[in-house]
Amino acid sequence: MIDNIAAIGVQPEDIDIVVTTHCHGDHIGWNVTYDGDTPIKTFPNSTHWIAERDWEHYSKPENDNPAFDRSVKPLEQLGALKLIGGVEQLSPGISTLPTNGHTPGQQCVLIKSGDQTGVITGDLFHSVAQVTEQSWCPTFDWNTRMSTQSRKNLLMLASTQEWVVFSGHLATGRSIGHVVSEGGKSVWKPL
Ligand SMILES: [Zn+2]
Repeated sequence: MIDNIAAIGVQPEDIDIVVTTHCHGDHIGWNVTYDGDTPIKTFPNSTHWIAERDWEHYSKPENDNPAFDRSVKPLEQLGALKLIGGVEQLSPGISTLPTNGHTPGQQCVLIKSGDQTGVITGDLFHSVAQVTEQSWCPTFDWNTRMSTQSRKNLLMLASTQEWVVFSGHLATGRSIGHVVSEGGKSVWKPL
């Protein structure tokens, strides 16, 4: 990621807000780096916005999540932690939207620009099949009834309001798209 942002002229110190969609290990890895056992912020000027429900859930010993302990927990002592309780306006045009279920605090990020809206979906869905079969859930979903409801609600909004959807796990080159209706079914249409 550091190489990719450098390629578009962004340095780690330029980043002031980091939003975590949810606290699974493959979505939090760059929060901190380590000098021996000492955690250091990868983005020295950043505040990290974490859903309160994920923070509380993974802080409990019975919900063991070593990646959380390594990459999220240290943010508190580094003075970089901001907990989000619901919808939060992060900066003009950018806000969070709770879509709980994949984890207790899974949230999307909405980006409004001009007359367009984009949504970063985290792990609201993992496969294009779930855009059509919206009640299908991967084993990673913490509460499948809740994740299904969140998925249906968000994909309905994305479809009817023609949002640009940035998915977390679809193949590179096909991961950004629209949700459209074809023959009475919702389908993924990559941009
Ligand atoms: Zn996940």
